[in-house]
Amino acid sequence: MQEVRIMSNITTQILTATIATPVYVDHYRDADRIATLCRTCSQYGRSWGCPPFEYDVLSRLQAYNQVLIVAMKVTPAMSGLTWKEVDTLLRPHRKAFDARLLVLEQQYGGLACHAGSCISCADGECARLCNKPCRHEQLMRPSLEAYGFDIEKTMSQIFNLPLQWPAHNQCPEYLVYVGALFHNAHDVEW
Ligand code: SF4
Repeated sequence: MQEVRIMSNITTQILTATIATPVYVDHYRDADRIATLCRTCSQYGRSWGCPPFEYDVLSRLQAYNQVLIVAMKVTPAMSGLTWKEVDTLLRPHRKAFDARLLVLEQQYGGLACHAGSCISCADGECARLCNKPCRHEQLMRPSLEAYGFDIEKTMSQIFNLPLQWPAHNQCPEYLVYVGALFHNAHDVEW
């Protein structure tokens, strides 16, 4: 399924794929290697949406038969934007994307994964820093990366859309947000 929206400052394209959870876990989850990468991130252990988790991630995922993976390709109209400019431009779209996943979770049951680290509180203000419970558990969901999935492999092999990386602090031609809904429903429509 593809859904394209052209706006004055960006174009978004939605791509979806449904895959059996055991297949996705076996072929696209590389928990030890991704955990090593996560440990080098400034968010590691500093957000309830990021590892390490206080529960067994695999058992949580195995409660669901299928996973709907949703990729949103975002192409800014202007080239050469800095990361800060891109973050400002894209944040509302990221929030809308995550919110849609929560709607699907409510509608079909299951477990949503958001498209990156938690952005529900201001930067650097996660309650985990003070060892307090998450302030917005109803909104917060970990990402596929946080659960050990290889997003680069997911994008190149399932969607045939390689990730692009920034160079010299500038946004590449496009970025991709990837989220998911693990579920037991017969069919889930984005
Ligand atoms: S909602 Fe706030 S407290 Fe909860 S994980 Fe996100 S940043 Fe942390």
